[in-house]
Amino acid sequence: MSTPKPKDRRTAKTAPPRRSGAKAVTRKRPASLYGPAEVHEIFRRFSVQRPEPQGELEYVNAFTLLVAVVLSAQATDAGVNKATRALFRAADTPEKMAALGEAKIGAYIRTIGLWRGKAKNVAALSEALVRDHGGEVPETREDLVKLPGVGRKTANVVLNIAFGQHTMAVDTHIFRIGNRIGLAPGKTPEEVEKRLIEVIPDEYMRHAHHWLILHGRYVCKARKPDCPACVIADICKAEVKTTDVPAPQVEIAPLGPPGSTTD
Ligand code: SF4
Repeated sequence: MSTPKPKDRRTAKTAPPRRSGAKAVTRKRPASLYGPAEVHEIFRRFSVQRPEPQGELEYVNAFTLLVAVVLSAQATDAGVNKATRALFRAADTPEKMAALGEAKIGAYIRTIGLWRGKAKNVAALSEALVRDHGGEVPETREDLVKLPGVGRKTANVVLNIAFGQHTMAVDTHIFRIGNRIGLAPGKTPEEVEKRLIEVIPDEYMRHAHHWLILHGRYVCKARKPDCPACVIADICKAEVKTTDVPAPQVEIAPLGPPGSTTD
């Protein structure tokens, strides 16, 4: 067991004893530090910057999107794209992928981290799609997370991008932004996901995932947020922000080719 730090001991010593029978008060975290008008304005500005945000993973249909997202765990999008261009030329349906088999899939994706486990999952999920879903990618989270290698985040990406559902896949960027600026504070990705869905206006839910990822990747970066380049600097309530002056609201050129996504 770890030794409590001096600060912990002091806290424990000075904390008033709870009266017997008294209930612990659980404070509900606010869903957001921002009111509805502020949240609306944040996403309106993101929509001005990127009216049709595109991600960076390449795919040609719902199935190849699912495979690309599975392969992208702990790998860069650019690295995944390099491998999947040839893979998807050889197999762009569950039937063809299952026929290709684990060994050949592995040969295509050998440059991607954790390729052995991923090749196994891609082969198994393709077989499951053929066997249980008539070769189609299911449109519910419940069915998606039963597929090998598919977790909640992957399912949310596919539901949002392939099927236009109002889901929020919380990756490292979105988790950081949700907490850093207080848009959707939460201790776990699932808590942040729930709060974001609560606060983001319906009209912006379709693209919110991409906007937040791109904002986190290129502006509100992990180590040093680039606040002077931030379009919401005047609204932002982050303690770390360095300016109140927002960057001009202008459209930014798309980053990826059409039919691609970011995760
Ligand atoms: S002002 Fe700075 S901290 Fe706030 S969202 Fe923009 S980049 Fe992030």
